[in-house]
Amino acid sequence: MLIGIPNEAPEARVAATPSTVAQLLRLGHRVAVQSGAGARASIPDGAFTEAGADVVTAAEVWQSDVIAMVGAPTPEQTALLRQGQTVVGFLHPRTDLGLTEALAARGVTALSMDMVPRISRAQSLDALSSMANIAGYRAAIEAGHAFGRMFGGQVTAAGKVPPAKVFVIGTGVAGLAAVGAARNLGAETFATDVRPETAEQVESMGARFLHIATAKEVSADGYARESTGDDAAKAALLYAEQARTVDIIITTAAIPGRPSPKLITADMVASMRPGSVIVDLAAAGGGNCEVTRPGETYTTDGGVTIIGWTDLASRLPGQASQLYGTNLVNLFKLLTPGADGELTLDFDDEVHRQMTVTRDGEITFPPPPIQVS
Ligand code: NAD
Repeated sequence: MLIGIPNEAPEARVAATPSTVAQLLRLGHRVAVQSGAGARASIPDGAFTEAGADVVTAAEVWQSDVIAMVGAPTPEQTALLRQGQTVVGFLHPRTDLGLTEALAARGVTALSMDMVPRISRAQSLDALSSMANIAGYRAAIEAGHAFGRMFGGQVTAAGKVPPAKVFVIGTGVAGLAAVGAARNLGAETFATDVRPETAEQVESMGARFLHIATAKEVSADGYARESTGDDAAKAALLYAEQARTVDIIITTAAIPGRPSPKLITADMVASMRPGSVIVDLAAAGGGNCEVTRPGETYTTDGGVTIIGWTDLASRLPGQASQLYGTNLVNLFKLLTPGADGELTLDFDDEVHRQMTVTRDGEITFPPPPIQVS
C-alpha cells in the first residue's frame, strides 16, 4: 500500500518522521510525503527522501491508498477522496458527525485515532495518551512562562524565594505529566481527581494528593462521569480554597465527547492573587474554567492570566510527531500482520472495530460497547 502523509499546515505536527517512514517501509508499505509536511516540526523534505519516502505534491499525496494524518481532512480534502481509500487521523466522530457522513459518502474507510480503546493491548497506538502526555508537560511550561516568578524556591544572599504553588485538577495522563513537570521545576505541587486511585502516582512524584472522595464517579471503562450533588459541592469547596492559596492552576478534567465540566468559577478566578496563572487543558471542550476563552490567552482585570490554548501538543511538534508517528507505525503493524504491505481490517479484533468509523462507505460508528473483562 502507498501511505500518503499530507502537509497539514497550519498544524505543526506531521504524521510521519524519517524514523517512522523507515519502519513503515519495513512493513512492506511505500510512503509518499507531501512537500513541506515536516517543515514546522523541523523535518526538511530531504530527511524524508533519505529515509526512503517519495516527496510529492498535494494532488499526488491525496491519491495514496492510505492517507495518514494528525488531524482530520478538511471538506475540500474530503472531496478529493475516492472509493477504496483509507483515512487515518483524529476524526472526532463523537462530535463531528458531518465528517463521518462525508467520508462515508466518498466510499472510504476511516479509522479514528481518538477511538483507540484504552486497553493494555492497544497502549502502543494510544495517541490520546501520547499527545496528552506532551500537552500536560507543555501546560506546566506555558504556566512557568506566563508566571512572573521561578517555580523552585531558593535561598540566596539576596534573600529567600519561596517555591511556586501549583494545583493540578485531573490526574489522567495529561495531569500526571503536568504534575511531573511542575515538580521537576521545583514547584510545591498539589493535585486532585475524582478517581482517588491516582493518589499513589501523584504522591510518588513528590506532589500532594487532595481527596474529593467521589470514588463512585468512575464508569466501568475507567473514565470519570460528571459529578453530581454533594460530590460536586465538596469539590467546589476544595477548588475555592486552592484558588485563594496557589499561584498556578492546571485543569485537565475532560469527559470524552461531552462539554468539559465547569470547575473553576469566575469568583474563584477573582479570588486568585494578581500574577497567578490558569492553564485550561480542557479548553477544547469549552474549558474547566468559566472564563476560559478556548484558543486564546488573556489576563483578567484582576491580573490572572488564563491560558486556553487548544494546541498544546502541537507546541512541541518534533516530539509530538515522533510519538504520534510511532503510534501510527504500531497501528499499521496491527493492520499489516503479514508485513507484506497489505492492510487487513478484522472486525473480530476489538481495536480494529472500535477505531473504524466508516468501512467502504458504510458508517460503522458508534462501535459496540467495549468488553471490560
Ligand atoms: P481524561 O482526559 O479522560 O480525563 C482527565 C482526568 O480528569 C481523568 O483522570 C479524570 O478522572 C479526571 N476528571 C474528570 N472529571 C473530573 C472532575 N469533575 N473533577 C476532577 N477530575 C476529573 O483522562 P485520560 O488521561 O484520557 O484517562 C482516562 C482513563 O483511561 C483513566 O482511567 C486512565 O487510567 C485510563 N487509561 C488507560 C490506558 C490503557 O490502559 N491503555 C491508557 C490511558 C488512560
